[in-house]
Amino acid sequence: MTNTFIPYGRQNITEEDIEAVVATLRSDYLTQGPQVPAFERKLAEMTGAAHAVAVNSATSALHIACMALDLGVGDWLWTVPNTFVASANCALYCGAQVDFVDIDPTTYTMCLDALEAKLKAADAVGKLPKIIVPVHLCGQSCDMETISRIARSFGVKIVEDASHSIGAHHQGRPVGDCQYSEITVFSFHPVKIITTAEGGIATTQDASLARKMDLARSHGITRDPGQMTHAPDGPWYYQQISLGYNYRMTELQGALGLSQLKQLQTFVTRRRQLAAQYDDLLSGLPLKRPAQHPDSNSSWHLYVVRVAADRHTAVFEALRAAGIGVNLHYIPVHTHPYYQAMGFAPGQFPQAESYYAEAISIPLYAGLSDADQRRVVQELTNALADQ
Ligand SMILES: *Cc1c(COP(=O)(O)O)cnc(C)c1O
Repeated sequence: MTNTFIPYGRQNITEEDIEAVVATLRSDYLTQGPQVPAFERKLAEMTGAAHAVAVNSATSALHIACMALDLGVGDWLWTVPNTFVASANCALYCGAQVDFVDIDPTTYTMCLDALEAKLKAADAVGKLPKIIVPVHLCGQSCDMETISRIARSFGVKIVEDASHSIGAHHQGRPVGDCQYSEITVFSFHPVKIITTAEGGIATTQDASLARKMDLARSHGITRDPGQMTHAPDGPWYYQQISLGYNYRMTELQGALGLSQLKQLQTFVTRRRQLAAQYDDLLSGLPLKRPAQHPDSNSSWHLYVVRVAADRHTAVFEALRAAGIGVNLHYIPVHTHPYYQAMGFAPGQFPQAESYYAEAISIPLYAGLSDADQRRVVQELTNALADQ
């Protein structure tokens, strides 16, 4: 039996990916060339969105999405507590405030009843959020049709954090088509479904939001005379018309992204197969397997099991000691010291907190072999028996 470390997630890089990056390295453009726009067009086509704006991370994509929706001082953004901190931090970058909606105990995504109740209460005191950020946790899409019906009845805008779910479908529609949101954000960090090393993208159906995000990722500078507010001085002229950042994706990343996109379907198919095998292999164990909404066809970024809270730490430690790189997604955002200093406290979002007390992400990635998966199951079986 091998004792190599099995991580919870890892990238899958082919020779073709490497060739694509090397060819770009030998080309005229390392940034602001043809690869990034080609990647954007391909991704927009695959998701059914009209526009895609590529940036250097999903964190940046969340920030420019909030900027495009004019989030600012005095505004609120709501997300869920069981997400990566970036889903909430984007509001703080804009000077806005953050609040949370608890999760559904079955799907672990934003609870529809909690959202509706909280919006009604906020409306009554004139403190409606400008934006909500539902998170498609583990790759399973939220019920966006219902979320949009609720949110839009209060005039609230929606940014989907789809960092986990490129390649996923819901009710037969691809995540990222923005049928029920203003903007959708994807991440290409190496543990996600496809990678550009670091990288992210924002999709939208709205040309004006796409233009604002394009400005925000590159200093607020335009070279398009049609967008300039003052007449150009001459042919060298560009004009800064808003405040932006340098959040651009490089050509190396664009080339890698284009090459990885060709494998998206293969990756997601393998992840779905591994998830179905886990469902089977884990069926007799004292743990809770992830539930799937019947309308959902997840991209399976993560496979999260829940074990009894009083055995959670011991099981986690035993797995790590056995070389299984389990992880925990996520520490509830409101319990981080930075958020507690803003006034949040443990106990405020009980579903997200009880999920945190029991959740373990076990290894799942396209390159995971059946043999390694069986080793994960064996070690998990041992860990649960040992307690
Ligand atoms: C990974 C992730 C992010 C941030 O992505 P980066 O590309 O690393 O900035 C944001 N939200 C969620 C839910 C994530 O999993």
